[in-house]
Amino acid sequence: MSVLVYSESENGKLKKSSFETASYGKALSQELGSKLICVSFNCSDIELLNKYGADKIVNVESSNLKDFTAKTYSHVLSQVIEKENISVVILSSSADAKYLGAYLAGITDSSYISNVVALPESLNPFIVRRSCFTNKAFSTTEINGNLKIISISSNSYEINENNGDGVIENIDYNEVSSTFKVSNVEKQSAKVTIADADIVVSAGRGLKGPEHWHMIEELAEVLGAATACSKPVSDMGWRPHSEHVGQTGKPVASNLYIAIGISGAIQHLAGINSSKVKVVINSDPEAPFFKAADYGVVGDAFDIIPELINKLKARK
Ligand SMILES: Cc1cc2nc3c(=O)[nH]c(=O)nc-3n(C[C@H](O)[C@H](O)[C@H](O)COP(=O)(O)OP(=O)(O)OC[C@H]3O[C@@H](n4cnc5c(N)ncnc54)[C@H](O)[C@@H]3O)c2cc1C
Repeated sequence: MSVLVYSESENGKLKKSSFETASYGKALSQELGSKLICVSFNCSDIELLNKYGADKIVNVESSNLKDFTAKTYSHVLSQVIEKENISVVILSSSADAKYLGAYLAGITDSSYISNVVALPESLNPFIVRRSCFTNKAFSTTEINGNLKIISISSNSYEINENNGDGVIENIDYNEVSSTFKVSNVEKQSAKVTIADADIVVSAGRGLKGPEHWHMIEELAEVLGAATACSKPVSDMGWRPHSEHVGQTGKPVASNLYIAIGISGAIQHLAGINSSKVKVVINSDPEAPFFKAADYGVVGDAFDIIPELINKLKARK
């Protein structure tokens, strides 16, 4: 019995989430006394997974599998699952992984649990803790069956180096055809994405208008952060919808979330709750966001942000 990690890549390079899932997979395989097998598709730096303890690395090379579809990837993974006698599959919390988890569970007749936040509380029975209700609660869930599929909530498990000597293998597999084909993917920008970011700099209506966002972008650049915004900001077209975070936008689970000129409405907080450290900058000391903050600065963003950028630049 082995543990399988689906290691996601983008433009042929492993994503940060692949190191999180491999670290989790290694710890779990050690608890189970089993091997860790990492599988990726058309990936050029797959050997990096050795640093996180992979015992075997499978690189699936095919021009037909260049772009993700849940059906084609699931069918290949199901063949590796059968060949390697896999008992647990570990996925990230990306949008692709969510589709994949459901599809894979369907074709392998197994259970799929998302948003897992820690190693299992018990292995037999297999019990995991997962976040639910937009991270306001945790549920303890038992998974039965010979094959379990779990996805790990972003930034919930630390990346740990763990020397492995995984042999890289190419495998024989049967491809299935998909009912649709991705012809082209155009990314909106080459910046750090909200899902991958360690730090997210987010701003709201307090910024008064799109012409002031250069401060937010500059602060994000100095910190190597992704930029985000509240819903009204994207609704008014000040920022692209891809930056809208919250209950109806993207979820954020960064290590540091900096909220500037955002009041802290419940729908905003619902999406950013699982960020580890929250810093709030707001001119109104009564702004509700301060109640959810780890650190708060009461003051005018137009004074504080340029000062902060200067201080950070001086430190570099
Ligand atoms: C069904 C539903 C779903 C929703 N989903 C979302 C969602 O996913 N995400 C989301 O964000 N919202 C969502 N909302 C909207 C949400 O209720 C709030 O209206 C919204 O979050 C407020 O955005 P804001 O904080 O940018 O603006 P405001 O509430 O107007 O707050 C602006 C803040 O900026 C501060 N400020 C003003 N000037 C300055 C200055 N110079 N320096 C520093 N601070 C300053 C003010 O004190 C204030 O706190 C949803 C609402 C509904 C009904």
